[in-house]
Amino acid sequence: MIILVMNAGSSSLKYQLYNMADESVLAQGRVERIGMDDSILTHEPSGGVEVNRVSEILDHNEAVRKVTAMLTHREHGVLKSMDEIKAVGHRVVHGGESFKQSMLVTNEVKKEIRRLFDLAPLHNPPAMMGITAVELNLPNVPQVVVFDTAFHQTMPMESFLYPIPMVLYRRHKIRRYGFHGTSHNYVSRLAAEKLGKPLSELKIVTCHIGNGASCAAILNGKSFDTSMGLTPLEGLMMGTRSGDLDPAIVPFTMNKEELTLNEVNSMLNKHSGLMAISGISSDMREIVAAMEEGDKHAKLAFDMYTYRLRKYIGAYAAGMNGLDAVVFTAGVGENSVAVRKAVCEQLTFLGIELDDERNAERSKEARYITKDGSRVSVLVVPTNEELLIARDTYEIVNNRDGEDGM
Ligand code: AMP
Repeated sequence: MIILVMNAGSSSLKYQLYNMADESVLAQGRVERIGMDDSILTHEPSGGVEVNRVSEILDHNEAVRKVTAMLTHREHGVLKSMDEIKAVGHRVVHGGESFKQSMLVTNEVKKEIRRLFDLAPLHNPPAMMGITAVELNLPNVPQVVVFDTAFHQTMPMESFLYPIPMVLYRRHKIRRYGFHGTSHNYVSRLAAEKLGKPLSELKIVTCHIGNGASCAAILNGKSFDTSMGLTPLEGLMMGTRSGDLDPAIVPFTMNKEELTLNEVNSMLNKHSGLMAISGISSDMREIVAAMEEGDKHAKLAFDMYTYRLRKYIGAYAAGMNGLDAVVFTAGVGENSVAVRKAVCEQLTFLGIELDDERNAERSKEARYITKDGSRVSVLVVPTNEELLIARDTYEIVNNRDGEDGM
């Protein structure tokens, strides 16, 4: 079965085409700058040459039309006809409390995703545009939605509630949801395989640290706690997001700096984190490079980032009353030898013995970076959210009876 996986942002659309017979990627690409007159379609057929096309692309509908045309293109395409695409899987950021698992797209499901626009105003509307664009361009092809929040719906109340008046939860569903669920789920399963133990017997902390960053405490295969909350702002220090802070900073700053709510919101999401402290960049590569050249601000940013991550790992070990493994994934987690070292070296009390040589290895495979015999194992597991979306889509479309997950 051929499955198209899509991840639609406000002005972008990423895609991967899978052949589920062997889970191989036939082609992948992205459309950027949707809505502008110099939109770019970058298409990469597997084993072929990357193609770049600049043109005016009005909206997501036109973007999907260009993508499907490229997938069936005489020279650069990988399909003879669009009919070969048997299903489309979409990444949707917020599933609220309604979606505890991936779902086949129906009118009901679309209505519910729209109802959740409030909770994810930047992310859910573009996903909906992607779904509508597929309906128009590939009519009758079943679609599946995979939610970033769904995996964390197993969190117990003591993890997901904020200690604020309950009426806010009852009226507005203000609670912690957590994100990156597809990734935390995928890497924890792979880690259990690598450990040779059933996931149902393990206590794992997964650290998805990329541009956005979150940790999850995974107890017996289920998300028990995670660092992001109502929105992806809570938790770890990130590239441009603050992560945890005293909420009183918001009114205090508004008052002192005469800022509006939107301005403070933008400060915390776009002008904080590594960027704010280093004054150099939100990119960990540049922070580490500057730190190695003796830049004090870069060093402070790095130390704050790794200290905050370490605190979460310790807190989750306490939350689960034990720890078998820590997993690093995403851009920083998979690539930054320095971040992993700084975090693990200060966790020896938990039973982590880092192996510097293993930590310095470069590989696309899941691997250990602790010494043999380390009481707690630390692994680097490359994430693959698209593959998990393709797998869920495949399963749901093959078994259309499973429509009652709401
Ligand atoms: P992601 O959101 O998972 O794509 O991660 C992107 C981020 O990963 C970038 O902004 C960088 O900060 C980080 N990154 C990528 N490669 C490296 C590397 N070699 N060393 C440190 N950080 C990296």
